[in-house]
Amino acid sequence: MSRDVSPPFVGSLLDPEHQWQYRVLLGVDHQQNRQLLSALLSRFYSLQDLSAVALKWGQAFDLCIFDTAFLGRCREHIAQQRAAAGPVFLPFLLLLKRHHLPLMTPPQRQQVDDVITMPVDQTELLLRVESLLRARQQSLKLSAMLAQERLLEQQLAADNEILQQLAVQDSLTGIPNRRAFDEKLAYEWKLGRREQTPLTVVLCDVDYFKPYNDTYGHISGDQCLRAIAGVLDTVIRRPADLAARYGGEEFALVLPKTDLEGALHLLNCLRSILRARAIAHPKSPVSPYVSLSFGVATAVPEQRLQPEDLLRAADAALYRAKAEGRDRIVVASNLSAAPLQQT
Ligand code: GH3
Ligand code: MG
Ligand code: MG
Repeated sequence: MSRDVSPPFVGSLLDPEHQWQYRVLLGVDHQQNRQLLSALLSRFYSLQDLSAVALKWGQAFDLCIFDTAFLGRCREHIAQQRAAAGPVFLPFLLLLKRHHLPLMTPPQRQQVDDVITMPVDQTELLLRVESLLRARQQSLKLSAMLAQERLLEQQLAADNEILQQLAVQDSLTGIPNRRAFDEKLAYEWKLGRREQTPLTVVLCDVDYFKPYNDTYGHISGDQCLRAIAGVLDTVIRRPADLAARYGGEEFALVLPKTDLEGALHLLNCLRSILRARAIAHPKSPVSPYVSLSFGVATAVPEQRLQPEDLLRAADAALYRAKAEGRDRIVVASNLSAAPLQQT
């Protein structure tokens, strides 16, 4: 080995703070070469000996320098280490006699990222090591950036899912909101038209809720709305059914493939459960407990009608339920298309 080493420049292109932390594995079976390389490289890098005496794979490293004897002995280990590194660059530098260079087989070349010929020129070796470690450093940085990016993408996807969820959820009661109701109604209308199955819409409104708020305060009013939402949510059992807060103290149900009889059965159930909850409402002229008025409209969707027509019919029925004394169910009598807008 020559002696013309110029240490000041060694590793100067590597991250200076981490230069000492670069771990170089020495897999050099030739004793004299091993001693020389150890003496040289241990001045700049953290060195681990992989010679026959101290063979210990499994430790993390940034560069492996090895000779042909070692390659013959540890071919499988080297292949495993390279595979385990994945897309991150983990350099393997082979020491080779110059006249052996042309004899290298393709499988041997595949195990190697660079070659240095013996007798080793110390400066050249140090430059090669530095250059391989720089490539390793870049590769690690890139892989960390990609990992960070993947993490951010995952976080973004999770945040988006939450946002999408929030966009269709009523913040007070936790059940679907008006937007979710509108989307669901439009979807089920189309489906019902294609399959020619009945679709029922129910609008319901809390009776004398203003006096309830006036008696117990808004916070209790909110709790009452949550309790009602809970009852609605309990009553709908089919996965395709939807209970939503329509706005204020109004709620709405979309009941696909449900005829009037089925809807009335469900609403009577709902009323019984609400009654059993017995939410006191001393100021209500119609019941000692919180009650609801319901407007129900059922139709098999047809071409001349729009989902809004069903909704309008349910609203008119609800209006009648209020006018006729509240705490009751009124079924829409007729369903007609909205009059054409005059221009
Ligand atoms: P009706 O039987 O005719 O429906 O009488 P009502 O008192 O329920 O109807 P009105 O429209 O006069 O009052 C509705 C009340 O619902 C007034 C409003 O403050 C209350 N309200 C609407 N949204 C909320 C809410 O999010 N929280 C609370 N606590 N009250 C609400
Ligand atoms: Mg109202
Ligand atoms: Mg009301």
